[in-house]
Amino acid sequence: MKVFYDLDNTLYSYSETGVHNVISENIIRFVMRTLNLDREAANTLANHYYGTYGITGTGLIKHHNIDPDPYYKEIHDFPMTMIPRNEALRTMLLELEGRGCEQWVFTNGDRAHALRVTAALGIQEIFSPKNRFIDIFSQWEYVKGEYVNKPFKGSYLAALHIAGGIVGERCVMIEDSAENLKVPLELGWHCVWIRHGRPIPERFPYHVVESLLEVAPLIATLPK
Ligand SMILES: [Mg+2]
Repeated sequence: MKVFYDLDNTLYSYSETGVHNVISENIIRFVMRTLNLDREAANTLANHYYGTYGITGTGLIKHHNIDPDPYYKEIHDFPMTMIPRNEALRTMLLELEGRGCEQWVFTNGDRAHALRVTAALGIQEIFSPKNRFIDIFSQWEYVKGEYVNKPFKGSYLAALHIAGGIVGERCVMIEDSAENLKVPLELGWHCVWIRHGRPIPERFPYHVVESLLEVAPLIATLPK
């Protein structure tokens, strides 16, 4: 079974690390400086692009022709000491690997960020030897010139293609964003939402776990 993990706020927690505040601030500063906007206008524009394209970066590329390489470098510039090593997570991933799960990191972030974060967590070597990273550039590459990323369909088809899967194959998508589970549900994937203490919606078609460490026992119960 192929298991796709979102990276930010899935393989580590935003609230436990404070990483989200730093990335958001880096994005606002980038937009203010590059587009010569005040803080409020930059914040509004960044949120608008996030709502429209799933990530702010895609809006900046489409409408302002920014270079994605320095953008990603800048927004993900924070000390990796913010993300502590997670032995329990490492043990769980190794156990799943041993059970024949093919595990992938599937992120709207860039490759360098994914490598740094997984190294900090102590889990990089689970993904690196077989190059099991699907980053923002791999998603954009799949539908050339369109800049498609999660939560849009082309992105999940890209992930499936990169992972050597076929449409109709049962995969598992693990995410903190319920929005990013809509398309995988349509594709018939098993979907797991990491709740992080948020209220559970009244109707929800995905599996809900409080913490990532509940994923291994859950996967054991899923039909293949
Ligand atoms: Mg996330």
